[in-house]
Amino acid sequence: MNEHQQIVTNMKSDILSLYLDSIDEYILLESYFEALLTLLGRYFDIDERCVLVYEADVLEPLKNDTSKPESVPWALLNTYFTSQKVVSIPYFLSEQVQYANMTHMMLLQVDEKLPSGILLFKASEKWQAFSTSELTEDLVNVIAKATAVVKETQDIRLNENQYRKLYNMTDLFHSTMDIDVIVKNVLVTIKENFPNLGVELILSNDQDRQTTVNIKPFDYLSERPSTIESFVSGDITTELATDLDRRLLNAPIKGRQAIYGILQVSAQTTYEFSTTQKEFIRMLAQASGNALENAKLYHQSHRLISDLQLINETSHRLNMKLDIHEMLSFLQKQLMKSFQPNEICFVFKRGEHELTDASTQLFKLPQGRIYIDYVEKHFESTQDPLFIADFSRLIVEDVQYKSIMAIPMIVEERINGFSIVLHREPYFFSFDSFKLMQSLIHHSSLAIANSILRNKLQDMVDRDHLTKLFARSYLDDFVEKSLIDDDSGMFLLIDIDNFKRVNDTYGHQVGDEVLVQIGAQLQKTVGTRGICARWGGEELSVYIPNVLDDEALKISQQIVDVIPQNTNPQVTISAGLITWDKSHRPEFKTVFSHADTALYEAKNSGKNQVRMFDESMQLHVQ
Ligand code: GH3
Ligand code: MG
Ligand code: MG
Repeated sequence: MNEHQQIVTNMKSDILSLYLDSIDEYILLESYFEALLTLLGRYFDIDERCVLVYEADVLEPLKNDTSKPESVPWALLNTYFTSQKVVSIPYFLSEQVQYANMTHMMLLQVDEKLPSGILLFKASEKWQAFSTSELTEDLVNVIAKATAVVKETQDIRLNENQYRKLYNMTDLFHSTMDIDVIVKNVLVTIKENFPNLGVELILSNDQDRQTTVNIKPFDYLSERPSTIESFVSGDITTELATDLDRRLLNAPIKGRQAIYGILQVSAQTTYEFSTTQKEFIRMLAQASGNALENAKLYHQSHRLISDLQLINETSHRLNMKLDIHEMLSFLQKQLMKSFQPNEICFVFKRGEHELTDASTQLFKLPQGRIYIDYVEKHFESTQDPLFIADFSRLIVEDVQYKSIMAIPMIVEERINGFSIVLHREPYFFSFDSFKLMQSLIHHSSLAIANSILRNKLQDMVDRDHLTKLFARSYLDDFVEKSLIDDDSGMFLLIDIDNFKRVNDTYGHQVGDEVLVQIGAQLQKTVGTRGICARWGGEELSVYIPNVLDDEALKISQQIVDVIPQNTNPQVTISAGLITWDKSHRPEFKTVFSHADTALYEAKNSGKNQVRMFDESMQLHVQ
């Protein structure tokens, strides 16, 4: 065996043990190449040497190479290795200061496969002598093969590791509906696998939620074209962003139904994303897309169920024949709970617009007018509900409340009224809230309209249509109830003096007008203390609960005094008063007959006066 054969044999044996080492323990590619370079030194006295590793069409220096050589595109060197695996280094390389000492380069490539890398070195005398022998090709092939296998093993290990992480992550995704957890994990997984890369999540903002993770909202107007392209096409795009001095990779976060955003990975401009990297990032983005979609659908159906429950509960309550005030205050509570507005109002259209009690303070103040006016104007021309994200953009005046939702109450295709909710912050209400409020108002409108009609109908039954005072039937019920529930009360029966004369002199119509004048005067005097009713014909009555004798007499006298001053033609009245307290609760019928007796006394005592019932009167009558 000559010296060259000896070198080849020894070197083969060293390379074999290097290869075995790489299988047994997990050595880094860098360590393998370093050891390989050391062998060149040992067997051929080569001192100047370095390696460029093939990675996605580029030859990259080792990360720990202190001379920091530049990476070289494979396409530039490819052509130099036509027949030989070891050639002189081209001029453009030796010009560079890091390669100035190098003379040769050795291609590590097996057959038609992609190259593993290139060894650059300064040929020593020993090498010069060796390279003329026919053994060179054999040695170079052995080095190339060993390197290819070591590199492949490394790639497989790296991939396996990455995919295990991906697997763990998707496993986690299947067990969580927490969007924050999903998003956090995507970021962490990328960072762990590619510590040198930047990563950003750009999510389309149709998901109503707050998150603690740093997410960039997807904005069609300001997003980079490559990002938009990826979002629209659903494919990975790359871009050399010279303005950012970065190379970008956009992977769509894609579910089965939609694309939810972009996973954007960035690297230095010189960096090239390898096919396996791209594939990994694509799978990661897809896994997170599916997970986000699941979580989103889960939350959506949850919300749908609770929305339906709310609508159901509301309809049910409203159909329980509550009175209109109870109804509106219930609806107010529901809207408050669901949308957390700062202010809320219900306005009905009855000739003039009428603000209901279930409205918050703002609307009762002049500052509230601007919102009602705007909404009113809107509904003059359309029945479409109103959803305003920023009112200040629509109006010149300074407005305190920016977010507005206004929903009409439509019954039989006519707008009966509307409800407005306001919030100070712009963009406060979500579109889902808008749809829910529409649903709530829609389902309540008919019940509310029915209640208003019912009230009107009841009013017609309860009130006398000429004087607008309560009718006899209403008075009867009221008195009967008060005799049980209250501690005391008064009943005043009124008859107009010489009313026949008024009719005869001025006609029946004027007589009617006098009745109306007296009715209005009674209402004014009694106010909310009690009720005034038309007893029948030209006889009227007043009932006031919880009042004692002195006060009762005072009020009665006041009524007698005030009528002549407020009638035209002027009339006087006579009145009979009866009071009661809890020491003696009179019979329902007795109240009226005693009042009648007292009235009779008043008439007989010269009219234009009030008389309070006492037992002696009864004797007198009999
Ligand atoms: P007094 O009560 O002081 O004894 O004299 P009077 O003239 O009021 O006599 P009376 O109570 O007997 O007559 C009631 C009259 O009131 C008879 C009727 O023409 C008139 N009257 C009753 N109901 C109405 C009504 O709804 N409109 C008008 N214009 N007149 C009525
Ligand atoms: Mg009479
Ligand atoms: Mg009379």
